[in-house]
Formats: sequence, structure tokens, C-alpha cells
Amino acid sequence: MTTAQQLSFDVQHSDAARTPAERERVLAAPGFGQTFTDHMISIDYTEGRGWHDARLMPYGPLTLDPATSVFHYAQELFEGLKAYRQAGGTIATFRPYANAARFNQSARRMAMPELPEDAFVESLELLVQTDRDWVPTTEGHSLYLRPFMIATQPALGVNYPSKTFKYMVIASPAAAYFSGGVKPVSVWLSQEYTRAAPGGTGFAKCGGNYAAAFVAQRQAVEQGCDQVVWLDAFEHRYVEEMGGMNLFFVFGDRLVTPDLTGTLLPGVTRDSILTMAADLGLTAEERKISTDEWREGCESGELTEVFACGTAAVITPVGSVKGAEGGWTVGDGTPGKLTLQLREELTGIQYGTRPDPHNWVHKIC
Ligand SMILES: *Cc1c(COP(=O)(O)O)cnc(C)c1O
Repeated sequence: MTTAQQLSFDVQHSDAARTPAERERVLAAPGFGQTFTDHMISIDYTEGRGWHDARLMPYGPLTLDPATSVFHYAQELFEGLKAYRQAGGTIATFRPYANAARFNQSARRMAMPELPEDAFVESLELLVQTDRDWVPTTEGHSLYLRPFMIATQPALGVNYPSKTFKYMVIASPAAAYFSGGVKPVSVWLSQEYTRAAPGGTGFAKCGGNYAAAFVAQRQAVEQGCDQVVWLDAFEHRYVEEMGGMNLFFVFGDRLVTPDLTGTLLPGVTRDSILTMAADLGLTAEERKISTDEWREGCESGELTEVFACGTAAVITPVGSVKGAEGGWTVGDGTPGKLTLQLREELTGIQYGTRPDPHNWVHKIC
């Protein structure tokens, strides 16, 4: 049903689009995820019929029956990627087919229909082309793209998943995710709460994972930290990830990142860094790393840098750690050399100022 189906998009332009002056006012200080562009994408799915009614339309609210299953059972998933204005004016995204594949991996776990990868990428291209003036020209800024899917059947029965779904894409101009630039974050090791357990939804990019995480993030802030770090569900010993970002540990010229055991989100940025590490002559290992190894490594000086990575905040240094049994500093608490080098390299590829040996850049217009 979802394979060779050719979708053609109906295009309806907004007659209430913001004026250039209004747009420039937003782009002068976009923040993150606060203002949206003039259009959005919508594609509907009905069991037995497949994907239909693909359209680009004016951005605006949805009208949904209060019994719609997403409100009650959280059958929802999303993606996140960016469009970058490159040197020379070209607008490009980064590895959109990796996001398309992960979208479908999440869909399988959430009993939702897969969207053909080409339709996913085409939907992004159409929205970015239409709202191209919303792609910021300021260095380091971008247009954040948020594809998502919700279950739309108005029924409260839980014995069967929904038979109807809606896929959408919205877009929002974005400054740096963490305000204040490349500033090391402090992290709280969450021993009370668990994000994911084997067999659960940890690897799926679904809203429910975030709903269950907010209380731990709030606790991290109460402890004076910026972000929560999740540990394994059994022993609360092994590091999984940070808030919405994957973690890397730097031992000299060796990178270590937790392996994908099904409980952490397989980040596109994580995957890109593993590939870039090899290009830069670094060794990279995917394996378990415990909080003891983290603390002892920092104490002995062997563990020199720790950073978090994800599309929204790219690469962010971790400067200090706090847990129920006390805390410690990573290196001297300032951004590490390799952290900054990898960040330069990756953003250089994304903004078209560095060679792109793996063809990650996907030009849109
Ligand atoms: C999206 C996300 C990441 C990072 O993935 P990228 O593809 O690199 O943006 C990491 N952890 C969680 C929980 C996420 O939702």
C-alpha cells in the first residue's frame, strides 16, 4: 500500500502570508520553535486506501474530534532536521533520507503506516521551496523542519490501533538551540527516573518518550543543572543519552559512545560523527560506558572531553556532572579541542564551507 504509490501534492498558497517586514522582524531573533512559516504539509492515510490528499496549504490550526486517539493514547511520532542557507545562497538539508528511514522505523514500533521515503523528502522540498525566504541568512541559524504523524481515528477503543493517520510538516526559523552559544552544559544523572527499557519505545522518536521525561528534566533544573542524563533501566549505572541528544566521551584520540541496544535514539548526528571520526583518524567505539568510568576517567585525566550531539544543538560540550553521590568536572570545564573541531567540521559541511565527502548535503533550491 505504501510502496510504489505516487503522491502528487495539491498546492494552496496562503493569502495571509506575513509581509517581508514582519518576516525580517522574526528572523532578527528567531529563538527556537516559536514562530512558524506561512505554509505546512498535510498527507492523510486511511487503512485500505493508503496515503492520499497530499497538500501544501496555509499554516493554521487543525480541527479534531475530542475522541481522536492521539489525544488519549499518544500514538504519535516525529522527526527533526534543518534547512541551511549555504555559502552562495543554495538552500540544503542534511541527510534527509536518514530521517525518512528513522521515521519509518519509529512508525513500525508505533503500529503506524510507513511513508515512502521519497514522499517524505519531497514534502520537505516542497515546503522549503515555498517558504524559502524564511531560511535565515544569519550564520549559524537555520530553518528547523518538524515532520510528524498522528493517529486521527475518533474512537476510544484500545484493542486496535487507529486506521486513519495524518502526516504533517511544519517549519520554524531557528537560532542556536541553547542560548549563549557554545557554552558547556551541566548535567544531572537521573537515578530516580528511567527513559526507556528493552522492548519499549526508546529507539522511536515518539512524543510519549518526551512526555515521560519532563519531570526528570525539571528535577535536573531543580538540582542546578541544565540537562538530564538518562541511565540504563536495570542498574542505573550505564549512560544512555542526554535529554534529546546522544553523548560522546573522548579519551585522547578515542571516541566512545553508548551502543544502540534499542533503548536510545539512533541520532543522525551521532552516526555522522562516527563516520567523521574515521575520516579524522580517530578511533570510535560503540559500547557500554558506566557513570563510574565517567567519574574515574575525569579524575585520572584519561577522559578529556564529553559532548552531546543532535540536530537542534549540533555539538554541545558537557562541562560538569552531578548525581545523588556528588559531582565532578569534565576536563577544566571549558569546551574541549576535539569537541570544537568536530563541531566546526560538521557545521562546515552543513553550511557548505567544507567538502562533503559522504554526499550528506541534499540541495533543495
Ligand atoms: C532526536 C533525538 C536525538 C538526536 O537525533 P539527531 O538525529 O542527531 O537529531 C537524540 N536523542 C533523542 C531522545 C532524540 O529525540
